[in-house]
Amino acid sequence: MTSAPGLLDHLFPEEAKPRSSQSPAVVPVLVPLPTARPYSYAVPDGMDVAPGSIVQVPLGPRQVAGIVWDGATDGVDPKKLRPITHAFDCPIIDEGMRRFIDWVADYTLSPPGLVARMALRAPAAFDPEPFIEGLARTGLEPERLTGARRRVLDASVDAPAWSRSGLAHAAGVSTSVVDGLVKLGAFEAVRLPPPPVVARPDPGFGGADLSADQRAAADSLVDRVRMGGFSATLLEGVTGSGKTEVYFEAVAAAIAAGGQVLILLPEIALTQAFIDRFHARFGAPPAEWHSDMPPRIREKVWRQVAEGEVQVVAGARSALFLPFPKLALIVVDEEHDPAYKQEERTFYHARDMAVVRASLGGFPAILASATPSIESRVNASAGRYGHVRLAGRYAEAAMPTLRLVDLRRHPPARGRFVSPILHTAIAETIARGEQALLFLNRRGYAPLTLCRVCGHRFQCSECSTWLVDHRLRGQLQCHHCGFSVRRPEHCPDCGTFDHLVACGPGVERIAEEMLDTFPDARTILLSSDMAGGPRRLRRELDAIADGEADIVIGTQLVAKGHHFPKMTLVGAIDADLGLSNGDPRAAERTFQLLHQVTGRAGRTGLASRGLIQTFQPEHPVMQAIASGEATRFYDREIAERERAGLPPFGRLASIVVSAATRKEAEDHARALKSAAGEDEAIEVLGPAEAPLAVLRGRHRFRLLFQGSRRSPMQAFLRAVIAAAPKPRGTVEVQIDIDPQSFL
Ligand code: ADP
Ligand code: ZN
Repeated sequence: MTSAPGLLDHLFPEEAKPRSSQSPAVVPVLVPLPTARPYSYAVPDGMDVAPGSIVQVPLGPRQVAGIVWDGATDGVDPKKLRPITHAFDCPIIDEGMRRFIDWVADYTLSPPGLVARMALRAPAAFDPEPFIEGLARTGLEPERLTGARRRVLDASVDAPAWSRSGLAHAAGVSTSVVDGLVKLGAFEAVRLPPPPVVARPDPGFGGADLSADQRAAADSLVDRVRMGGFSATLLEGVTGSGKTEVYFEAVAAAIAAGGQVLILLPEIALTQAFIDRFHARFGAPPAEWHSDMPPRIREKVWRQVAEGEVQVVAGARSALFLPFPKLALIVVDEEHDPAYKQEERTFYHARDMAVVRASLGGFPAILASATPSIESRVNASAGRYGHVRLAGRYAEAAMPTLRLVDLRRHPPARGRFVSPILHTAIAETIARGEQALLFLNRRGYAPLTLCRVCGHRFQCSECSTWLVDHRLRGQLQCHHCGFSVRRPEHCPDCGTFDHLVACGPGVERIAEEMLDTFPDARTILLSSDMAGGPRRLRRELDAIADGEADIVIGTQLVAKGHHFPKMTLVGAIDADLGLSNGDPRAAERTFQLLHQVTGRAGRTGLASRGLIQTFQPEHPVMQAIASGEATRFYDREIAERERAGLPPFGRLASIVVSAATRKEAEDHARALKSAAGEDEAIEVLGPAEAPLAVLRGRHRFRLLFQGSRRSPMQAFLRAVIAAAPKPRGTVEVQIDIDPQSFL
C-alpha cells in the first residue's frame, strides 16, 4: 500500500534488520590457496563465527585453516555445502586487516587466498597457548619452619603466583623444599597464563638527550602520532644523524597511548644491533618476526600480537601481515632497501604496502633513510608525504672525506684489485689501530672461470649464468638456482689440467689479496652465504664492533646500519659494478649503496675517509658521491625519470612467461601481446627474451607495460590475462606490478 517501510529500510537499515546474535547458516571462507574468491561453507548449529573468525574447513580430502570473509554467499542451500569443521578460539582478523588483504590482492593481481596465507603463517597459534602449572599461597602458615622453608615463604610475597622452579630459584633452595610446603598446604596448584614473549616496553625508560635539530624532528613525528589519522612522513638524514633515536620518540608516543607499533627492517643481519638499542631505550626488547625464528617462538609472537599483548614488533617485510588489532604506527627503516620487494608468489613492495596499511588503518607511517628512494623523495617534495630532515651527523662525528680513485690512472698490480692508493690507505689505517672496510658486492672468489687453452666457460646447466667460483667451499655455484659442482682440476671440454683461470674478483679473492699483502692483519670476510648462517654473522659483526678485526671485507651486507666505532676507512673495490645492468634504477641503487657503505666510516668522531675505485670518475653517480651533493644527484635523477615517464612519474608492470621449452614460453608471451587491447595511456613493450633467459631450466620471456601515472594498469592487465588463452602445459605467468628487477 505504501512505500514507507521500504524507505525506512533504506534510511535505517540497522534498525530494520536487527543484528541477530546467531551466525548465518552459510558464510564465505577465504582459504589459503590461489583461488579468486572465498568458498561457501555451512555453519553447524551452535557454532558462532563472524567475519574475521579463523576456522578449519574441509577442502577436498584435506582440512585447511581459513578466514571467514565478508560479503554475501551465493545463496546456495546450506544442506548442499560442507560444514565448517572447527572454529578456533582465536582473536578475529579485524576489518582493517581484511581490507588490507583485499587491497594487496587487488593491487598485485594475486589471488586473495594467497595473500591471506601470509596472514596465517603460524597455524599452531590459532589455538590458545596452554596455561602453565603454577603455585599460589593459600594463606596457611605451617607451624614449624626450617630456614629454607622460611625463605620460600618470604620470597613468595613478590608475586601472586610462581612456577615451582621459579620460586625455588628466587628463594635459593631446591625444588624439594617447595614440594614440602605444597604437601603442608602452604601452596596450592594454580593455572597461570602463558608468559609473554617479551616484557612490556616502557616509553619513558631511556632516551638520548636529543640535539635541537633532532628534537624538532622528533616533535614533528610525535605530533603526527598524537593527532592520529593517516599520514606518511619521510625521515631523511645522513647515516649517523640519529634517525633511529628520533623515530624511537614516535614509537614511545604510540605505545604510551596503548597502541601497537611495527618497525620494518630490511635485513635479519641488522636486527641484533637494533634489538639491543631498542632494549636500551625501552627497557625491553621488541618481539622479532622473520624467517629465521624457531617455530615455537613464531607462534607465540603471532598469538600475542593478535591478542594485543605484544606492543612492538621489529620484523622483516612479512611482519606486515601480522594480525595487529591496535596498530598505531609503522616505521620502515632504510626505506630505499631493495630487500623490501618480495619477488615470489605474491610480488609486493613492503614499503608501499606499509603506507597502504597505514592509510586503511588510519594511522601514521614513517619512512626513514639516508638515501631515500626516488619515489619517496618525489612524494615528499610533492607534499603527499611529510618531509622531516636531520641536517648532519650527531655530535662530533663528521662525514668521511670521499675521494674517487681513477682505476685507469692508478691500476692495481697484475692479478690484484686494490689500487696502490687504497693499499697505502689501508696500511696507514691499520698502523693507527683503526679498521678498514673493503666493499665489493659480489660473493665468492670469481664470477667466471674459463679454460685458458680452449676458452671453455663454466656455465650453469639450469640457467643462462656463469658459475661463480667459491674457493672456500671448493665449488662452482650458480647464484640463481643454487646448482653447484666441485671445482674441477681439468677442463671438461679439452681435458687440459691446471689451465683454468678465475676472471674478476669476488670478496673471497679480495680477502686472499689482503692475506697476501697484509699477512699480520686480522681480516674478517662477511657475506650472506657464509657458513654458520645468521648467528655466526651476528657474532662476527659484534667482533668487528669490538675492534677484533683490522680489515673487514664484505658484500652489501656490511653496507647497512652497523655501527663500527673504529672504522675509519672504507674502500669500494668496484664502484661501477651495478651501473651497467639495464635497470632503470641502476644509478639510484649505486648511489644508495656507495653512500651507505662509505657511511660506515667515522661514526665516532675519528677522522675518516672513503676511497671509491672506478673506471668512470666522470659518471654523475660518482660525482655526486665524491662531492657529497646528494641533492644535485636527486634533482638530476628525478628530472630524468620524469622525462622518460618512469616511476614515480609513470607506472610499470611486467609479465614474465616461463616454460620448459623456449618455444612454449615465446608463443605464450606473443599470445599475451596479441591479447593486449589498445589503451592510449599504456604501451606494451616486448615480448623479449629475458636477460636471464633460462632460470632453473625454464625459458623466460618478458613483457613490459609502461603507462602514465593515472593509467588503469591493473584493469588493463586483467583484461590481457582474460583475453589470452589459459597457460597450458608447462607455461607459467608471473605478474609484477611496480617491478624492481628487470632480469
Ligand atoms: P642513523 O639511524 O641516522 O644512522 P643513529 O640513530 O643510528 O643514526 O645514530 C648514530 C649514533 O649516534 C648512534 O650510536 C646513536 O646512539 C648516537 N646518537 C644519535 N643521537 C644521539 C643523541 N642525541 N645522544 C646520544 N647519542 C646519539
Ligand atoms: Zn642455475
